[in-house]
Amino acid sequence: AVHFENVVKRFGDLEVLRGLDFSVQPGERVTLIGPSGSGKTTILRLLMTLEKVTDGVIWVEGEPLSHMRKGERLVTATEAHLREVRKRIGMVFQQFNLFPNMKVLRNITEAPVHTLGVGKDEAVVRARELLDLVGLSDKEDAYPSQLSGGQQQRVAIARSLAMRPDILLLDEVTSALDPELVVDVLDLLKDIAETTDITMLIVTHEMGFARDVSDRVMMFDSGVIVEDSAPDAMFGEPKHERTQSFLRAVL
Ligand code: ATP
Repeated sequence: AVHFENVVKRFGDLEVLRGLDFSVQPGERVTLIGPSGSGKTTILRLLMTLEKVTDGVIWVEGEPLSHMRKGERLVTATEAHLREVRKRIGMVFQQFNLFPNMKVLRNITEAPVHTLGVGKDEAVVRARELLDLVGLSDKEDAYPSQLSGGQQQRVAIARSLAMRPDILLLDEVTSALDPELVVDVLDLLKDIAETTDITMLIVTHEMGFARDVSDRVMMFDSGVIVEDSAPDAMFGEPKHERTQSFLRAVL
């Protein structure tokens, strides 16, 4: 499980997260929605340890995600533990971030071989299974620049699954895609949600997708959670005025 305990994040004078408390249970699919700049991406970047918490603690499976301050107290973890936790969390970005100088197959096998120590042959077998899953078996020898945006994003998803993450973070993964390519990627993610028990935290502007795929939706505004409820309640009868106006604007 993932647990945010009074998490504060500041960039200089800007307080982006203002003491967040929430938990995500194993296997749960939680979507983060809210206006631009409300802090959604920052939450995922903190979980990837791409940013450091200003105050408070993020717990993953009962252990602190990194060395963190909680008021006056320092909460620490062993380096070995930190490495383990980080391996279990995968992220897919808006910009696909594939290695441009590597063919598709190598993009997928690189991290399992070098970070997890998986044998090369085994990594290739697994990569081919994943390419089959994402519908790109015929592209293993292509370079990323030879693929469409939607295909690149499907490779990026395969690459993150190759690490067998317990927790997958998806940050506006369709925002950079042409509209006609969005549906393939969303269908793939729905498929993964239905066929695996990976915990997912999803930042998206695709409200139909959020409704279909989520167990829970959290609405953010100005660094706080305004509303946290099941998708039918969030989209069908939002309680908070801020949620109502946001959904009126985007739906
Ligand atoms: P969007 O939907 O537009 O992606 P968001 O809810 O994901 O928005 P964040 O990307 O988390 O929002 O950003 C929250 C705020 O933090 C924004 O005001 C942003 O400008 C600011 N911010 C994010 N990263 C940094 C940084 N590295 N340095 C300074 N400010 C930052």
